[in-house]
Amino acid sequence: MPSYTFVSTVNAFVLRGAIPVFCDIREDNLNIDENLIESLITKKTKAIVPVHYAGVACEMDKIISIAQQNGIYVIEDAAQGVSAKYKGKHLGSIGDIGCFSFHETKNFSMGEGGAICLNKEEFFERAEILREKGTNRSKFFRGQVDKYTWVDIGSSYLPSDLLAAVLWCQFEHLNQIQEKRKQIFDAYLKGLLPLQDNGLLRLPIIDDLSGFNYHMFYIIVNSEKERNGLMDSLRTQGVYSVFHYIPLHESEYFKKHYSVVKLPITENLSRRLLRLPMYYSMNTDHYFQVIDSIIRFLNT
Ligand SMILES: *Cc1c(COP(=O)(O)O)cnc(C)c1O
Repeated sequence: MPSYTFVSTVNAFVLRGAIPVFCDIREDNLNIDENLIESLITKKTKAIVPVHYAGVACEMDKIISIAQQNGIYVIEDAAQGVSAKYKGKHLGSIGDIGCFSFHETKNFSMGEGGAICLNKEEFFERAEILREKGTNRSKFFRGQVDKYTWVDIGSSYLPSDLLAAVLWCQFEHLNQIQEKRKQIFDAYLKGLLPLQDNGLLRLPIIDDLSGFNYHMFYIIVNSEKERNGLMDSLRTQGVYSVFHYIPLHESEYFKKHYSVVKLPITENLSRRLLRLPMYYSMNTDHYFQVIDSIIRFLNT
Protein backbone atom coordinates (compact mmCIF):
# COMPACT_ATOMS: atom_id res chain seq x y z
CA MET A 1 0.00 0.00 0.00
CA PRO A 2 1.09 3.57 -0.36
CA SER A 3 2.41 5.36 2.70
CA TYR A 4 0.75 8.48 1.37
CA THR A 5 -2.74 7.71 2.65
CA PHE A 6 -5.06 8.08 5.61
CA VAL A 7 -4.46 5.89 8.67
CA SER A 8 -7.66 3.89 8.12
CA THR A 9 -6.01 2.20 5.13
CA VAL A 10 -3.28 0.68 7.24
CA ASN A 11 -5.25 0.15 10.46
CA ALA A 12 -7.63 -2.26 8.75
CA PHE A 13 -4.72 -4.65 8.17
CA VAL A 14 -2.54 -4.02 11.19
CA LEU A 15 -5.51 -4.65 13.50
CA ARG A 16 -5.57 -8.22 12.13
CA GLY A 17 -1.85 -8.77 12.56
CA ALA A 18 -0.63 -8.00 9.05
CA ILE A 19 2.63 -6.15 8.38
CA PRO A 20 2.25 -3.14 6.08
CA VAL A 21 4.75 -2.73 3.25
CA PHE A 22 4.76 0.75 1.78
CA CYS A 23 5.25 1.57 -1.86
CA ASP A 24 6.21 4.97 -3.24
CA ILE A 25 3.76 7.02 -5.32
CA ARG A 26 3.69 8.47 -8.81
CA GLU A 27 4.86 12.03 -9.26
CA ASP A 28 1.89 12.92 -11.52
CA ASN A 29 -1.23 11.79 -9.63
CA LEU A 30 0.18 10.73 -6.23
CA ASN A 31 -1.26 7.23 -6.61
CA ILE A 32 0.71 4.07 -5.82
CA ASP A 33 3.44 3.63 -8.47
CA GLU A 34 2.35 0.43 -10.19
CA ASN A 35 5.87 -0.04 -11.56
CA LEU A 36 7.35 -0.40 -8.08
CA ILE A 37 4.88 -2.94 -6.70
CA GLU A 38 6.42 -6.13 -8.08
CA SER A 39 9.79 -5.54 -6.42
CA LEU A 40 8.08 -5.41 -3.00
CA ILE A 41 6.22 -8.72 -3.30
CA THR A 42 7.51 -11.68 -1.30
CA LYS A 43 6.13 -15.13 -0.43
CA LYS A 44 4.40 -13.54 2.55
CA THR A 45 2.51 -10.90 0.55
CA LYS A 46 -1.26 -11.29 0.80
CA ALA A 47 -2.69 -8.28 -0.99
CA ILE A 48 -2.05 -5.09 -2.92
CA VAL A 49 -3.97 -2.08 -1.60
CA PRO A 50 -4.24 0.71 -4.16
CA VAL A 51 -5.65 3.98 -2.83
CA HIS A 52 -7.45 6.06 -5.44
CA TYR A 53 -6.08 9.35 -4.24
CA ALA A 54 -8.30 12.41 -4.69
CA GLY A 55 -10.76 10.27 -6.67
CA VAL A 56 -8.29 9.59 -9.49
CA ALA A 57 -8.01 5.93 -10.50
CA CYS A 58 -4.85 3.91 -9.95
CA GLU A 59 -3.50 1.88 -12.90
CA MET A 60 -5.81 -1.03 -12.17
CA ASP A 61 -5.05 -3.18 -15.24
CA LYS A 62 -1.40 -3.44 -14.28
CA ILE A 63 -2.17 -3.89 -10.56
CA ILE A 64 -4.71 -6.67 -11.20
CA SER A 65 -2.30 -8.44 -13.50
CA ILE A 66 0.52 -8.32 -10.91
CA ALA A 67 -1.89 -9.68 -8.30
CA GLN A 68 -3.03 -12.52 -10.56
CA GLN A 69 0.53 -13.52 -11.42
CA ASN A 70 1.35 -13.69 -7.71
CA GLY A 71 -1.92 -15.23 -6.52
CA ILE A 72 -2.74 -12.37 -4.16
CA TYR A 73 -5.76 -10.15 -3.57
CA VAL A 74 -6.41 -6.58 -4.65
CA ILE A 75 -8.24 -4.52 -2.04
CA GLU A 76 -9.14 -1.07 -3.29
CA ASP A 77 -9.27 1.87 -0.95
CA ALA A 78 -11.92 3.80 -2.85
CA ALA A 79 -12.73 6.01 0.17
CA GLN A 80 -12.27 9.08 -2.01
CA GLY A 81 -13.43 7.40 -5.18
CA VAL A 82 -17.20 7.05 -4.73
CA SER A 83 -18.85 7.33 -8.17
CA ALA A 84 -15.50 7.73 -9.97
CA LYS A 85 -14.52 5.32 -12.73
CA TYR A 86 -11.54 3.58 -14.31
CA LYS A 87 -12.07 2.62 -17.95
CA GLY A 88 -15.84 2.66 -17.42
CA LYS A 89 -15.81 0.60 -14.20
CA HIS A 90 -16.63 2.10 -10.82
CA LEU A 91 -13.72 2.41 -8.44
CA GLY A 92 -14.14 -0.09 -5.64
CA SER A 93 -15.73 -2.64 -7.98
CA ILE A 94 -12.57 -3.71 -9.80
CA GLY A 95 -10.46 -5.55 -7.21
CA ASP A 96 -11.51 -8.46 -4.96
CA ILE A 97 -12.74 -6.02 -2.32
CA GLY A 98 -13.48 -2.28 -2.48
CA CYS A 99 -13.83 0.06 0.49
CA PHE A 100 -15.70 3.37 0.59
CA SER A 101 -15.96 6.09 3.19
CA PHE A 102 -18.83 8.44 3.97
CA HIS A 103 -16.87 10.54 6.42
CA GLU A 104 -17.72 14.24 6.54
CA THR A 105 -14.80 15.08 4.24
CA LYS A 106 -16.07 12.93 1.36
CA ASN A 107 -18.38 13.83 -1.54
CA PHE A 108 -21.27 12.00 0.13
CA SER A 109 -21.36 12.01 3.88
CA MET A 110 -23.21 10.38 6.76
CA GLY A 111 -20.91 11.93 9.37
CA GLU A 112 -19.03 8.70 9.98
CA GLY A 113 -19.54 5.51 8.06
CA GLY A 114 -18.54 3.49 5.05
CA ALA A 115 -19.28 0.56 2.82
CA ILE A 116 -17.54 -2.48 1.49
CA CYS A 117 -17.98 -3.99 -1.94
CA LEU A 118 -17.22 -7.70 -2.29
CA ASN A 119 -16.35 -9.04 -5.68
CA LYS A 120 -16.05 -12.69 -4.68
CA GLU A 121 -19.00 -14.76 -3.57
CA GLU A 122 -16.82 -16.69 -1.13
CA PHE A 123 -16.58 -13.52 1.03
CA PHE A 124 -20.31 -12.82 1.33
CA GLU A 125 -21.29 -15.03 4.25
CA ARG A 126 -18.34 -14.22 6.47
CA ALA A 127 -18.72 -10.49 5.81
CA GLU A 128 -22.33 -10.63 7.03
CA ILE A 129 -21.20 -12.42 10.18
CA LEU A 130 -18.32 -10.01 10.89
CA ARG A 131 -20.57 -6.97 10.74
CA GLU A 132 -23.28 -8.57 12.89
CA LYS A 133 -21.06 -8.95 15.96
CA GLY A 134 -19.82 -12.35 14.83
CA THR A 135 -23.32 -13.84 14.71
CA ASN A 136 -25.38 -15.41 11.93
CA ARG A 137 -28.21 -12.97 12.61
CA SER A 138 -28.53 -12.03 8.92
CA LYS A 139 -29.36 -15.66 8.10
CA PHE A 140 -31.88 -15.67 10.93
CA PHE A 141 -33.61 -12.55 9.54
CA ARG A 142 -33.90 -14.27 6.18
CA GLY A 143 -35.43 -17.32 7.84
CA GLN A 144 -32.49 -19.56 6.89
CA VAL A 145 -31.84 -20.59 10.52
CA ASP A 146 -34.31 -20.75 13.43
CA LYS A 147 -32.01 -19.04 15.96
CA TYR A 148 -28.82 -17.04 15.76
CA THR A 149 -25.65 -17.37 17.76
CA TRP A 150 -21.99 -16.46 18.02
CA VAL A 151 -20.19 -18.15 15.11
CA ASP A 152 -17.03 -16.08 14.50
CA ILE A 153 -15.25 -12.92 15.63
CA GLY A 154 -16.99 -9.71 14.68
CA SER A 155 -18.10 -6.28 15.71
CA SER A 156 -20.98 -3.89 15.21
CA TYR A 157 -20.07 -2.54 11.78
CA LEU A 158 -23.60 -1.33 11.16
CA PRO A 159 -24.41 2.29 10.44
CA SER A 160 -27.74 3.38 11.89
CA ASP A 161 -30.79 3.64 9.62
CA LEU A 162 -31.04 7.34 10.44
CA LEU A 163 -27.55 8.05 9.16
CA ALA A 164 -28.16 5.83 6.14
CA ALA A 165 -31.20 7.97 5.33
CA VAL A 166 -29.05 11.11 5.40
CA LEU A 167 -26.65 9.45 2.97
CA TRP A 168 -29.36 8.07 0.73
CA CYS A 169 -30.88 11.45 -0.02
CA GLN A 170 -27.44 12.68 -1.11
CA PHE A 171 -27.22 9.77 -3.55
CA GLU A 172 -30.60 10.83 -4.89
CA HIS A 173 -28.99 14.19 -5.68
CA LEU A 174 -25.70 12.73 -6.88
CA ASN A 175 -25.58 14.60 -10.19
CA GLN A 176 -26.39 17.92 -8.58
CA ILE A 177 -23.68 17.44 -5.93
CA GLN A 178 -21.12 16.35 -8.52
CA GLU A 179 -21.99 19.28 -10.78
CA LYS A 180 -21.34 21.72 -7.95
CA ARG A 181 -17.97 20.11 -7.17
CA LYS A 182 -17.02 20.27 -10.84
CA GLN A 183 -17.89 23.97 -10.89
CA ILE A 184 -15.58 24.67 -7.93
CA PHE A 185 -12.84 22.44 -9.34
CA ASP A 186 -12.96 24.11 -12.76
CA ALA A 187 -12.88 27.59 -11.21
CA TYR A 188 -9.80 26.71 -9.17
CA LEU A 189 -8.12 25.18 -12.21
CA LYS A 190 -8.77 28.19 -14.40
CA GLY A 191 -8.02 30.78 -11.71
CA LEU A 192 -4.73 29.22 -10.67
CA LEU A 193 -3.44 28.28 -14.13
CA PRO A 194 -1.44 31.53 -14.54
CA LEU A 195 0.49 30.63 -11.36
CA GLN A 196 1.35 27.23 -12.82
CA ASP A 197 2.46 28.92 -16.06
CA ASN A 198 4.80 31.06 -13.97
CA GLY A 199 6.26 28.04 -12.17
CA LEU A 200 4.78 29.05 -8.79
CA LEU A 201 2.72 25.93 -8.20
CA ARG A 202 1.56 22.67 -9.73
CA LEU A 203 -2.10 21.82 -10.38
CA PRO A 204 -3.64 18.33 -10.31
CA ILE A 205 -2.86 16.19 -13.36
CA ILE A 206 -5.88 14.10 -14.39
CA ASP A 207 -5.65 12.01 -17.56
CA ASP A 208 -9.27 10.92 -17.81
CA LEU A 209 -11.65 13.62 -16.61
CA SER A 210 -14.65 11.52 -17.70
CA GLY A 211 -14.01 9.09 -14.83
CA PHE A 212 -13.22 11.73 -12.22
CA ASN A 213 -15.51 12.50 -9.27
CA TYR A 214 -14.12 15.93 -8.37
CA HIS A 215 -13.34 14.77 -4.89
CA MET A 216 -10.48 17.10 -4.11
CA PHE A 217 -8.58 20.11 -5.30
CA TYR A 218 -4.98 20.42 -4.19
CA ILE A 219 -2.00 22.50 -5.20
CA ILE A 220 1.67 21.62 -4.90
CA VAL A 221 3.89 24.61 -4.20
CA ASN A 222 7.68 24.78 -4.44
CA SER A 223 8.69 24.23 -0.82
CA GLU A 224 7.41 23.15 2.57
CA LYS A 225 8.09 26.61 3.97
CA GLU A 226 5.97 28.21 1.26
CA ARG A 227 3.16 25.69 1.81
CA ASN A 228 3.06 26.40 5.53
CA GLY A 229 3.26 30.15 4.94
CA LEU A 230 0.39 30.01 2.49
CA MET A 231 -1.71 27.93 4.87
CA ASP A 232 -1.15 30.45 7.69
CA SER A 233 -1.89 33.38 5.43
CA LEU A 234 -5.14 31.80 4.26
CA ARG A 235 -6.12 31.10 7.84
CA THR A 236 -5.76 34.76 8.84
CA GLN A 237 -8.20 35.55 6.01
CA GLY A 238 -10.71 33.03 7.31
CA VAL A 239 -9.90 30.35 4.72
CA TYR A 240 -9.35 26.89 6.14
CA SER A 241 -6.96 24.85 3.99
CA VAL A 242 -5.27 21.67 5.15
CA PHE A 243 -2.31 19.56 4.21
CA HIS A 244 -2.20 15.80 4.44
CA TYR A 245 -0.92 13.29 5.06
CA ILE A 246 2.07 12.84 7.31
CA PRO A 247 3.30 9.80 5.35
CA LEU A 248 2.58 6.67 7.37
CA HIS A 249 6.22 5.53 7.24
CA GLU A 250 7.15 8.78 8.99
CA SER A 251 4.45 8.43 11.65
CA GLU A 252 5.11 7.94 15.33
CA TYR A 253 3.54 4.49 15.38
CA PHE A 254 5.36 3.18 12.33
CA LYS A 255 8.76 4.41 13.47
CA LYS A 256 8.26 2.77 16.85
CA HIS A 257 7.29 -0.64 15.45
CA TYR A 258 8.91 -1.10 12.07
CA SER A 259 12.26 -0.49 10.42
CA VAL A 260 13.19 2.62 8.48
CA VAL A 261 11.75 3.04 4.98
CA LYS A 262 12.66 5.74 2.44
CA LEU A 263 10.08 6.86 -0.09
CA PRO A 264 11.51 9.94 -1.84
CA ILE A 265 8.48 11.00 -3.92
CA THR A 266 6.05 10.56 -1.04
CA GLU A 267 8.33 12.56 1.25
CA ASN A 268 8.84 15.34 -1.25
CA LEU A 269 5.25 15.84 -2.40
CA SER A 270 3.58 15.43 1.00
CA ARG A 271 5.59 18.40 2.30
CA ARG A 272 4.47 20.70 -0.50
CA LEU A 273 0.81 19.80 -0.97
CA LEU A 274 -2.09 21.95 0.17
CA ARG A 275 -5.73 21.00 -0.09
CA LEU A 276 -8.17 23.80 -0.86
CA PRO A 277 -11.68 24.13 0.58
CA MET A 278 -14.37 22.37 -1.46
CA TYR A 279 -17.89 21.80 -0.19
CA TYR A 280 -21.41 21.85 -1.52
CA SER A 281 -22.52 25.16 0.00
CA MET A 282 -19.40 26.95 -1.23
CA ASN A 283 -20.45 29.88 -3.42
CA THR A 284 -18.69 31.86 -6.14
CA ASP A 285 -17.49 34.56 -3.72
CA HIS A 286 -15.95 31.90 -1.50
CA TYR A 287 -13.84 30.25 -4.13
CA PHE A 288 -12.82 33.48 -5.82
CA GLN A 289 -11.65 34.71 -2.44
CA VAL A 290 -9.50 31.57 -2.08
CA ILE A 291 -8.05 32.03 -5.57
CA ASP A 292 -7.29 35.74 -4.97
CA SER A 293 -5.61 35.03 -1.65
CA ILE A 294 -3.36 32.38 -3.22
CA ILE A 295 -2.44 34.65 -6.12
CA ARG A 296 -1.60 37.49 -3.78
CA PHE A 297 0.53 35.28 -1.52
CA LEU A 298 2.50 33.52 -4.25
CA ASN A 299 3.03 36.63 -6.37
CA THR A 300 4.77 38.53 -3.56
C1 LIG B 1 -11.44 8.94 4.34
C2 LIG B 1 -10.45 7.90 3.98
C3 LIG B 1 -10.51 6.62 4.53
C4 LIG B 1 -11.55 6.15 5.48
O1 LIG B 1 -11.70 6.92 6.58
P1 LIG B 1 -12.76 6.52 7.71
O2 LIG B 1 -12.62 7.66 8.65
O3 LIG B 1 -12.27 5.25 8.26
O4 LIG B 1 -14.08 6.45 7.05
C5 LIG B 1 -9.62 5.67 4.09
N1 LIG B 1 -8.70 5.94 3.16
C6 LIG B 1 -8.60 7.16 2.61
C7 LIG B 1 -7.58 7.40 1.55
C8 LIG B 1 -9.45 8.19 3.01
O5 LIG B 1 -9.35 9.39 2.46
